[in-house]
Amino acid sequence: MQKLAVTFLMSGGLITNYYCVSRCRHCLYRCSPQWPKDYISPEVTCSNLETMKKMQCQSIHIGGGEPLLNPEGLLRVLEIANDMGLHIEYVETNSAWFKNYESARAILRSLADNGLSTLLISISPFHNEHIPFYKVKSVIKTCRELGIAVFPWISAFFPEIDALDDRKKHSLEEYKALYGVDYENSILHRYWVSAGGRALELLAEHYPSHPVATIIEHSNGCCPELANTSHFHIDLYGNYIPGLCAGLAIRREDLDAPLDETEYPLLTVLYNHGIGGLLDYVRDHYNYTPAKTAYAHKCELCAEIRFFLVNKAGVTSHELQPVRHYGEGKFEITNK
Ligand code: SF4
Ligand code: SF4
Repeated sequence: MQKLAVTFLMSGGLITNYYCVSRCRHCLYRCSPQWPKDYISPEVTCSNLETMKKMQCQSIHIGGGEPLLNPEGLLRVLEIANDMGLHIEYVETNSAWFKNYESARAILRSLADNGLSTLLISISPFHNEHIPFYKVKSVIKTCRELGIAVFPWISAFFPEIDALDDRKKHSLEEYKALYGVDYENSILHRYWVSAGGRALELLAEHYPSHPVATIIEHSNGCCPELANTSHFHIDLYGNYIPGLCAGLAIRREDLDAPLDETEYPLLTVLYNHGIGGLLDYVRDHYNYTPAKTAYAHKCELCAEIRFFLVNKAGVTSHELQPVRHYGEGKFEITNK
């Protein structure tokens, strides 16, 4: 079998924390208030950034979870990047941390003094279910006052969200009442929602499902996504997340060399034989059978299998990290 080897990093981010005050229904990393409040340490920041530098990463951003829930921690990350001569392209935020203009100015000014040039500010009805929009608008205003560039993600939703009371959170039910029953479905086509994490449940609800045999047939017998480094992440625990396959991991120190298939059996099977190969593997080794006959996406089945391995088969593995990713989810696993 061909060994998966990640030897060059194109563009990616540091995940500083998985803790988040929100619990967006589309969140790729399944972040929520239920995660521990762990934040990336200076040591892990150095090691992750050194790896990115050594592997010629062209563009680095910082995300979470919500990086600004620990402004001092984020400041340390920016200082370390600065000391290493690395430019941070942007920091992501959901703006939930905004309390008042005075404190927001103080936080953003000190971050800007240490290298924050652009803030990617999340703007979507999914976020608005958890965060009143006045906070988002206030952070944008503060950035503009301080000369920090704003990357609104995505600005197309701005007028639709702003039409509702900005001091309150608004459920998707309210959006549907205002913009039509198809609104939730339409968001999925207007927004970049990756098929992973909690979004899988959304996609399963709104997209047509296909029999397992069709899913396997259409998956081309491999998962080249695992080798894609155009939007990778390395987290606060030193896990490299291949592609956008949240819940799968390569230890940072195992990058830049072919992965040993005995150390990484799941990734090796997925890389070489795709979802069909993983299904055969877990059938043979763990007596697994899919809980449903049809799925919206190959990654939905992949995630169901991984939830099964962690929660039913008792597998502990550095490939299935962070393990808290598997501590939630609606996947109905009926087999033992
Ligand atoms: S999408 Fe962003 S704001 Fe929403 S739960 Fe995930 S990390 Fe938090
Ligand atoms: S099936 Fe699994 S390994 Fe393949 S792209 Fe989807 S999440 Fe990644």
